[in-house]
Amino acid sequence: MLKKYQQQILAIELLNRHAKVKIVYQATGIPIKLLRQTYRQLHGRSPSRGSIKFSTRGLTGSRRKYKDVTLFAVCYRVASSKSADSQIHTLISAFDAYKKSYPFGNLDFSAAWVVAQDIKDKKVQLSTCTNCRAWVLLNARDDYDRCEICKTGM
Ligand SMILES: [Zn+2]
Repeated sequence: MLKKYQQQILAIELLNRHAKVKIVYQATGIPIKLLRQTYRQLHGRSPSRGSIKFSTRGLTGSRRKYKDVTLFAVCYRVASSKSADSQIHTLISAFDAYKKSYPFGNLDFSAAWVVAQDIKDKKVQLSTCTNCRAWVLLNARDDYDRCEICKTGM
């Protein structure tokens, strides 16, 4: 019973952050229909039916978006190094830290989830520019890797 209660708490935490119901379902196993109802109760409207992006590359179409993704990756690294929490709780901490540090950042929770998956699977990698030491996220966009600050190619 306690386990079920914890899953419900987690679902509400995720829905509060506008996570897509499919992601909440994956994390909690709570039926989609119930999650949709709960989303409506929390936000007064139905959850969007848009699909989840498949990869970090799909999220970095502009310089600004690339910057958002990279800033989130930094928050995720800090959150991962600080706690032994489960992955989903690390993601929640990282997302909250991102929102707090960059109130004008545009990355939503579902996008953050995709980036966290790619970091975990080592599809993208956080590194620093060899020239100016700024953060760069390697392999995260369709064209070549480069530093956004000094434009050095990686
Ligand atoms: Zn640089």
